[in-house]
Amino acid sequence: MNLNGKKVAVLGCGRSGVSAARLALAKGAADVCIFDAAPHAACADPQLRFVPGATAEDAQAFAAELVVLSPGIEADIPWTLAFTCAGAPIIGEIELGYSYFPGRIVAITGTNGKTTTTALIEHILLQAGKTAKACGNYGYPFCEVAMAEQTPEFAVLEVSSFQMETIHSFRPEVAIWLNFAPDHMDRYTKVEDYYHAKLRIFENMSEEQLAIVRVGENLPAIKPQVQEFSAVVGSGRLYYRQNYIMENGRPLMGLRGTAMEQAHNAENSMAAILACRALGLSDAEIEQGIRTFCPPGHRCETVAEMDGVLWLNDSKSTNLHSTEAAVRSQTRPIILLAGGKDKGLDYAALNPMLEQKARCCIVFGQIADQLEATFRPACKTIKVETVAQAVVAAAGEAQRGDVVLFSPGTSSFDQFTGYVQRGQCFRDAVLKTLNL
Ligand code: ADP
Repeated sequence: MNLNGKKVAVLGCGRSGVSAARLALAKGAADVCIFDAAPHAACADPQLRFVPGATAEDAQAFAAELVVLSPGIEADIPWTLAFTCAGAPIIGEIELGYSYFPGRIVAITGTNGKTTTTALIEHILLQAGKTAKACGNYGYPFCEVAMAEQTPEFAVLEVSSFQMETIHSFRPEVAIWLNFAPDHMDRYTKVEDYYHAKLRIFENMSEEQLAIVRVGENLPAIKPQVQEFSAVVGSGRLYYRQNYIMENGRPLMGLRGTAMEQAHNAENSMAAILACRALGLSDAEIEQGIRTFCPPGHRCETVAEMDGVLWLNDSKSTNLHSTEAAVRSQTRPIILLAGGKDKGLDYAALNPMLEQKARCCIVFGQIADQLEATFRPACKTIKVETVAQAVVAAAGEAQRGDVVLFSPGTSSFDQFTGYVQRGQCFRDAVLKTLNL
């Protein structure tokens, strides 16, 4: 990409917008300006030209030759399109970073497990003595990594569907497709649009590159080679049976006692193994990395084990699919704590598993009534208002040998600023209730 002398409009003043603007300037753009529609938006870098409350008139006056879009902003809304009136192409921050990043890229997508898998692969590479950076949707903006004085050998890039909407030539060496389930229906009108945006991760890949895909995803024909993994059935290159990752009918790696033992994390581990092998690491190096890895917080994280009851914080569960995975992964009777903001999802799919595995569900937040009506036919259901009340109710219900699983299954914005605050609220309530 040649930015020499160009006028570049960067839309969105968040971290990725700021790093895109810095990269464009460093690569010779003549004029770079960040625009944000919010009148009170603030830009973290005072050196950069910045227009808050930007209008279509500002867009026309600037007459950009290239538009770089932040992932939070939609490409086809009139505000964005106003910046393309002089015929300027739109790319995303990932595409811009890709144009300048000289190293090797492994990209990770999926509805759930992206951050865990991204962090795991970065950890394995670092433990093996390589230079690597987790970036994209997690960690650093890709443009920041691409313009570092010493770029790492590997970019471990978490990519969301939003980021894939604005690629042109982006082509990772290895692409991981963890899973797919409906989500983000506040952004997409059809679930197919979400799916097709994600599928673009493979768009520019050829037989020389590798796609790593979960068994049963039923993807359309794609050009890269495919290697599959599975936690459920004995098929795929790698699969998971009784705490062992298996290959060709033989145990490859035991996960008991590691932080990746639960079935959904075994899937993330298998994807990471296949990716790291393709990047040239030995199985011994990969195993060492998996053994020493601790997933980021709020993802089925142990808060306490008291009187034989295990308390797990899975506040990062913001959709039905991740709660399903968390429930499926438990081997003890479950007290499930779920609820939060209404995202328009239907939770009835959980019922067969709840019937089998849950002693009780405690529901809270905006969708408490809906969840109560849905879960009641499957198991005992108690409705409360807040997370703190849910914890007190759970303490009353739990018996020795149970797991109290806080896996809300929707977003937290009815009562919290985000999943981190919600998870902390759960943790505080558990410690208080248990007198820890
Ligand atoms: P993402 O970045 O895709 O949101 P995270 O690693 O942050 O993924 O995990 C989000 C939620 O999904 C957590 O509740 C976590 O326990 C759950 N999860 C993690 N890995 C998987 C997986 N492979 N399949 C289903 N759910 C998963």
